[in-house]
Amino acid sequence: MTAQIIDGKAHAAGLGTRIAAAAETFGTQTGRKPGLAVVLVGTDPASEIYVRSKGRMARKLGMESFEHVLPEDTAQEDLLDLVDRLNADGTVDGILVQLPLPGHLDSLAVIEAIDPAKDVDGLHPASAGALVSGLPGLVSCTPLGCLMLLKETLGNLSGLDAIVIGRSILVGKPMAQLLLGESCTVTMAHSRTRDLAEKVGRADIVVAAVGQAEMVKGEWIKPGATVIDVGTSRVMRDGQTLLKGDVDFEGASTRARAITPVPGGVGPMTIMTLMHNTALAAFRRAGLPAPEL
Ligand code: NAP
Repeated sequence: MTAQIIDGKAHAAGLGTRIAAAAETFGTQTGRKPGLAVVLVGTDPASEIYVRSKGRMARKLGMESFEHVLPEDTAQEDLLDLVDRLNADGTVDGILVQLPLPGHLDSLAVIEAIDPAKDVDGLHPASAGALVSGLPGLVSCTPLGCLMLLKETLGNLSGLDAIVIGRSILVGKPMAQLLLGESCTVTMAHSRTRDLAEKVGRADIVVAAVGQAEMVKGEWIKPGATVIDVGTSRVMRDGQTLLKGDVDFEGASTRARAITPVPGGVGPMTIMTLMHNTALAAFRRAGLPAPEL
């Protein structure tokens, strides 16, 4: 068997087209564009690239982008003041504080200060609680993108056995909740899990979010399973730096029904689901029915 490659770029492009149409509809109905505010503290080069590309994507899809770059030594209260101002600003529908923050800042306190209605990163405890309770809220971007890829590849997920490897608040935990919401039977694995190979071997859906290059071996994968590889690790091979996922792609491709590549799988969906959440937040805040995205 050779697995179908799940093309994250193509799926993200399709979603982008729908978001742009929704942003236009929102403009017609309200006279303004959905607005995304991104806050960067410091000069971490990777974070600068992420912030710039988020702003560019928002503008490309017909949304407003507000970028706030603060110095590395910003005090906690100044950052909280900015979050308060963005909460109160009616033109801002989504607020994203780029993580990680410099070590002297309390990330959780900053996330908790964001109005949950504008929490487009889905990291506020109220957003996590809404997901567990099955209430409308904003869902963390990466797991939301993974779920979209799974549904577009497999259709109905009801009754399938799924394993999520990794239990972070950012990826693993919300991913497991989303799969449970689709009526999968979910196993959550982590660093203390015993006999991971056996547990992976029983799963129809494998979502790997660990951050260890190729730790999931091809021979663990159940024939016909669908594999979503969230992991991104930089490794040196033959003098070259390569981006590798958590799954042995070559080995898994001979057994899986479908698999995401790294790069080009989950990554392109993550930025687009941020745009999705911004559009959704805009409609909800305006009291308008959100379109199907
Ligand atoms: P994280 O917070 O470091 O969590 C890693 C998880 O993996 C932890 O729950 C840990 O278990 C578990 N783990 C570690 N070693 C393990 C092992 N040997 N077997 C099973 N589980 C193990 O990482 P994260 O933020 O969730 O990110 C995970 C990966 O996804 C990273 O490579 C990150 O770069 C990538 N990522 C990619 C995107 C994207 O858009 N492509 C977005 C977000 C993250 P414990 O809880 O027991 O320590």
